[in-house]
Amino acid sequence: MNYDLTQEQLSIKENFAKFCAKEIEPFAQALDAAPHDEVEKLIRANIKKLAGIGYPGMAHEDKYGGTDLDLISQMIAGEEVAKACASTFLSSGASSGLFGIPVRRFGSAAQKEKYLPGIVKGELVGCFGLTEPGAGSDAAGITTSAEKKGDRWVLNGAKTFITNASIADAALIFAYTDRARGPGAGVTSFIVDKGTPGFTAGKPFEKMGFRGSPTAELFLSDCAVPESAVLGEVGKGFIQAMQTLEYGRIGMATVCLGIAVRCMELANAYSKERKAFGKPINRYQEISFKIADMAIQSDVARLLIYQAAWAKDTGNPESAVLASVAKVWASEAATQCSSLAVQVHGGYGYMKEFPVERLYRDAKLGEIGEGTSEIQRVLIAKDLIRRYAS
Ligand SMILES: Cc1cc2nc3c(=O)[nH]c(=O)nc-3n(C[C@H](O)[C@H](O)[C@H](O)COP(=O)(O)OP(=O)(O)OC[C@H]3O[C@@H](n4cnc5c(N)ncnc54)[C@H](O)[C@@H]3O)c2cc1C
Repeated sequence: MNYDLTQEQLSIKENFAKFCAKEIEPFAQALDAAPHDEVEKLIRANIKKLAGIGYPGMAHEDKYGGTDLDLISQMIAGEEVAKACASTFLSSGASSGLFGIPVRRFGSAAQKEKYLPGIVKGELVGCFGLTEPGAGSDAAGITTSAEKKGDRWVLNGAKTFITNASIADAALIFAYTDRARGPGAGVTSFIVDKGTPGFTAGKPFEKMGFRGSPTAELFLSDCAVPESAVLGEVGKGFIQAMQTLEYGRIGMATVCLGIAVRCMELANAYSKERKAFGKPINRYQEISFKIADMAIQSDVARLLIYQAAWAKDTGNPESAVLASVAKVWASEAATQCSSLAVQVHGGYGYMKEFPVERLYRDAKLGEIGEGTSEIQRVLIAKDLIRRYAS
């Protein structure tokens, strides 16, 4: 087994680290603190900046302007983006990943032509509308419906907690087209463009963290879309959503890795400078062991992410469960590392001018978004029961 990154992957890491340190990280605190209207402009600008170095295009084919790289390379770049600004990672990933990947995998030639070049250039922003006010973990419990009337599908329902909802040019909407087929089975996904009559977004929520990434509701009220808005086949929406969430979980694990690593770096640097009782605090084992623990947690997270990404790229049947394992570990690593980093900073860590305060608030999302830690453990346990059935 070879753990070396390729020359290309090493260059990606170096280029993204340099770019993000200059173009993204210096503005992360201001993005977090900005009012909603300002956030909406700044985050679109960041998505566009990342397109300038080919970030969204890594997940897309050459003919749409992408570079079609393997998932490990994408996560190497993603770690650097997340270290610089978790909100930017989330919004960019919701657009090129949660929206862009299902369009790539299941879309018609016309849909790919319409949406993917804009996604790759960072000029078109997408979002993924699955969660509803009454159904999150229980995704098959959604109630949004789509009824065929003549040559149009008429959508009714509401989505909530949708990343990019208030800035998106197009949304992937999951709706029941045939409830009689049972939970999940009769769900179809539709691409709904901004400006379609009956389709509106709510105001962004006030959130604990990821404040630089707008999250809002979407409303569909007798919203009529043509047959060409169906993504792939009618009735295949639920499976499309679940397969997309496998990528989403590896992505969420990576944003958590970025948070954990940045916390370790910041705590390490601070502990060298801060003196107490006549010496730098990193000379106290209580502090240096916290930083060692952060390094261990981050390194394990990275290995699990690479393993899950490799499994996905190679079509390994374990890829779904490996994505869940990586997500549980990395998200819990992020909450633990961010808490340790605040502790190492003492009172300063509790102040908004220190980035660890933002990272601490951002970290918690990892245990909730793209399927909670509880749901990941349910999936891992089910897999174990299946595999070890006597
Ligand atoms: C900032 C943010 C961004 C988001 N972005 C998007 C997005 O872009 N698109 C989208 O579709 N969704 C998005 N979500 C929604 C997210 O995926 C859901 O919040 C998440 O799946 C949990 O669903 P819920 O909030 O309804 O919680 P619930 O499902 O109500 O869960 C509540 C609690 O019960 C537990 N629970 C539920 N069922 C079980 C079970 N069977 N066994 C054990 N425990 C259980 C959960 O783990 C959790 O602790 C986002 C959420 C946030 C906060």
